[in-house]
Amino acid sequence: MTNGATVEDLREWVRAFARRIESNKDLLTELDAAIGDADHGANMHRGLTAVVAALGDPGLDTPAAVVKKVGMTLVSTVGGASGPLYGTFFLRMGGALGDAQPVPPETLAAALRAGLDGVVARGKAEAGDKTMYDALAPALDALDEALAAGEPWPAAVRAAAAAAEAGRDATTPMTARKGRASYLGERSVGHQDPGAASTALLIASAVDALGADRERSTTTAGAAGDDSAP
Ligand code: ADP
Ligand code: MG
Repeated sequence: MTNGATVEDLREWVRAFARRIESNKDLLTELDAAIGDADHGANMHRGLTAVVAALGDPGLDTPAAVVKKVGMTLVSTVGGASGPLYGTFFLRMGGALGDAQPVPPETLAAALRAGLDGVVARGKAEAGDKTMYDALAPALDALDEALAAGEPWPAAVRAAAAAAEAGRDATTPMTARKGRASYLGERSVGHQDPGAASTALLIASAVDALGADRERSTTTAGAAGDDSAP
């Protein structure tokens, strides 16, 4: 996208996330086995499989409707800490998308930040607590900075993805202070946070779906159908 995200762009973002979760399911579970209870890959895979199925529900014809549906589906299908946190992220994001179609880049960035604010309101994580926050917050800071500097959306979303990966990697030396991993205290040091890893996949998926240098033209039913497998 260049000038804004269409409803199909946002659907494709979610499908791209589902594909990345599917291919990284075992990695996410291994990360969670080290400092949690070895279910993050399974939790996210179950949730995103349900989300892709729910994208076929009738009436999901606005960006806000699609993104809110994602949130509701994650809340009801993903257990643990990550279900309510990711669910809240998408619900709050959907609530901030407004009615403009396509969604302008600044509105999309503000909606993503509303999602982050929801994660914080729900989980009370701060920078350095070794959670998904540590990937998401730097990503959205990088996105805002790039847009404020006049960068085009594709460059801004690539900067966000790079910042998410750096934030994910920076969780490894941290001591967990939130969630299950916090029970380990200093024994959580030396392991990457699974939620930060899945969040980096979410932002990478935005590059997949929303980061092209030209407007998407694959709005035919055939192209959408080919992409819909999780
Ligand atoms: P559970 O810990 O209940 O098994 P998951 O394994 O699916 O849930 O998710 C664990 C991830 O959730 C952690 O790696 C961390 O990134 C994230 N998380 C846990 N608690 C919080 C919190 N309070 N705020 C933000 N993220 C959190
Ligand atoms: Mg877990």
